[in-house]
This record gives sequence, C-alpha cells and structure tokens, in this order.
Amino acid sequence: MINKEILTGAFKGEMDSQWGVLTGVRPVKLITKLTDRGLSDGEAIKSFMEELGVSEMRSRICLAASEFSRTVRDGLAARDILLYIGIPFCPTRCTYCSFVSNSMPGAMKLLDPFMDMLLYEMEYAAERLKISGLNIRAVYIGGGTPTTLDEERLERLLSAVERHFGSGFDEYTVEAGRPDTVTDKKLETMLRHGVNRISINPQSLSPAVLSAIGRQHGPEEFFHAFEAARRAGFRYINCDLIAGLPADNPESFKDTLRRVMELSPENITVHTLAVKRGSTINELGAALPTADEVRAMLDHGAETLTGAGYRPYYLYRQKNSAGGFENTGWTKPAMHSLYNVATMEELCGNLALGGGAVSKMMDPVTGFITRAFNPKYPYEYNTNREKIEKCKDEFFDFYRERSLPGIDVPNRE
Ligand code: SF4
Repeated sequence: MINKEILTGAFKGEMDSQWGVLTGVRPVKLITKLTDRGLSDGEAIKSFMEELGVSEMRSRICLAASEFSRTVRDGLAARDILLYIGIPFCPTRCTYCSFVSNSMPGAMKLLDPFMDMLLYEMEYAAERLKISGLNIRAVYIGGGTPTTLDEERLERLLSAVERHFGSGFDEYTVEAGRPDTVTDKKLETMLRHGVNRISINPQSLSPAVLSAIGRQHGPEEFFHAFEAARRAGFRYINCDLIAGLPADNPESFKDTLRRVMELSPENITVHTLAVKRGSTINELGAALPTADEVRAMLDHGAETLTGAGYRPYYLYRQKNSAGGFENTGWTKPAMHSLYNVATMEELCGNLALGGGAVSKMMDPVTGFITRAFNPKYPYEYNTNREKIEKCKDEFFDFYRERSLPGIDVPNRE
C-alpha cells in the first residue's frame, strides 16, 4: 500500500489522463495488434486517441515502439530464447527500491554460497539446453547490481557463462547500474568475455536527489564510469534516468538529461518512479514531485530525445508509478537492445537464473505464456537446490512437450 501522506501530499493522488482508459502494462503490444490486423498507422493512432483516450504524444510513442517490436519479432526464430542471470546484490539500498536486492557489506556472507549455487544452476540448465534445440539470442546479467561483484567473482561468473553457454551472442549485456561499482579491470573482464553492452545508471545528476535516494556517489562517479567504459571500448552504453524522484523538479531533471545527452549514449531509458511496498521512501516521507511535474519531465524528455534523433524502442507501465506514467527506452538509430524489446513485448521465452529470477516460457505458435519462479531471496536461493532444479525442469519440459517449427528435440530419457 502506498503511504497515504505521499498520495495526498506529493503525488496528490492525481492520475494524469495521458493514458485514457488504458490500464495495461504493455500498451505497445496493443497497438502492434491493431497494425497486425491491417490498420494503417493513422488508423491505429486514431483508435488509441479516440477510442481509448490516449494522448497524441503517447499514442505516437507506442506506434514508434511497435515498429521495433515487429522488427525484433520478425528476426526471431521459433527456437530462439533469451538468457537472464540475476545478481540480487547492491552496494547499498536505494530508498525507492522494492526489489529483493541485498546490500553490502551486510550480505557479504551470502555472496559466495550464492555464487556456488548460481554456477550449479548454470551447469544444470546448460546440460538441458544442449539437448533442447533452443538457441540463446541475447544474454542479460541484471540485478541488483552485478558489478557489485568484485573483479575475481565477476571473472568467475563470466567464465562460467562462457563455459556453459558459449560465446558470440548477438547481444550480451551487463547492468553496471551503480557508477561507483565500475572499475577498469571489471570493464576489461567484461569485454574479454564478449559483453558488448553495458548500462550505467545515474538516475539523476542532482547531488540533492542522489542523496535523497540513498546513493553513496555523486555525479562525478557517473562521468568517470561512463568515460572509463568508452575508453575500454564499449560501443553500446545505456543510461537510466528516473522522473519523479524525491527532491527532483523539472529544471533539475532537464539539467540531468542535458548532461547525459552530451555524452551521447546509444540508449537512454527514462523511467517513472514507482513507489512500491518494501521501499523505504514511504517511511521517509520525502518531498516528491507532483504528477504535473513528472509529466513535464517526461514530455520534455520525449521532445528533447526525439529532436536529437533518438527513437522510443520499448515502453511499459508499472503499478503505482507517479501519475500513472510510463517507462520508455530511447535509442539512436539501429542501436536498440533486442533483449529489452523481446522481454517487454514478450516475443520469446526467457531462461532466467539466479536469485528471484522468473523464467518465462512462450509458445511461439499460440503465444501462450507461463512462468517458473526461482526462490526469491538469496538466503532461500542458496539452500534450495531442489526448487531451482524443478524450475529449470519446468522450463525445458514446456518446450519438449511442444512440437515447434524449427525445433527437432531428441528425447532426454
Ligand atoms: S540499484 Fe536497483 S536493485 Fe539496487 S538497491 Fe537500487 S533500485 Fe534496488
């Protein structure tokens, strides 16, 4: 439950009407369905605006993102899946976080048992993958903050990925969310193992905002991390920003965006703050921007990014986000992330390993989707080998039970 004071005080309970009657998480899926049915772009926009009451700007953003969705969908074979590896540890906990992430150094004792179990899970999954007929198209190591791992543990993790799942993926991303966890050695380790995308996330470049969300770094660390990643040779860098953070306002948000854009990252993701159960932001009662201010931030972002040649390539909404607004990934031409589009638009299955990871199985013929859940918290994950195995069995059984075009699966037994 959202703290009432925040609803009445900061967001003022306002729900902007930008999304009309649409309440779903994936509006791009809906507009893609309309164009798949033969509606022209103009008709699809008209339907979104007139029948659903979505604003023109957001209808156009959805339509633009649906082009990426169709392109990625057309490039996926029935046997293609994604691989996700979740590292649920962070240096400290952000005040807005509701994720299962454990912060260091308190969680240090959980880390090595977690790594041992994760490597076991990789081996278990890889054995089944080899005889499944499935093919990994993109790998994403997320969290938490995977770069919380020190250099030796990161090397151990990436070597294990290579040993069990191979190399040369179209896309291999590591989320280096916290700039203060990035070192030259870790960047070199990632590149040596074939990682070709990295996400370095300032969220804001306002020192007051960074302090209000519990970050232990200032804006300088973000710039250092970004420059180090470029220097090391990363061609694809994403930066996440959040609109609606405590102590932020439209002017400081604009300043953050301007300074991030000066670095010319290939992707910029603009999130809206979602205040969820489990985050300490509720307890702090920090001053949050109003829904009108959040909208001003997002609209400014959309106009500025579009003007600079970025295009919206995926979009999703979350419960409890400020003003009911959206999260949008922006990309320079032809530099979008296949993983992000395929995940958000549910275009293929996702084999998910690690703490709190949720595997998604999708029948590429019928579109039927079901999920299998790994143990959530590290202390459960570290001691629950049986459940982890069961979750992997569910994933591969799903595909073995189906006769899919392009998949010739030998019987395991
Ligand atoms: S970096 Fe992300 S996962 Fe980690 S504490 Fe902050 S919001 Fe949570």
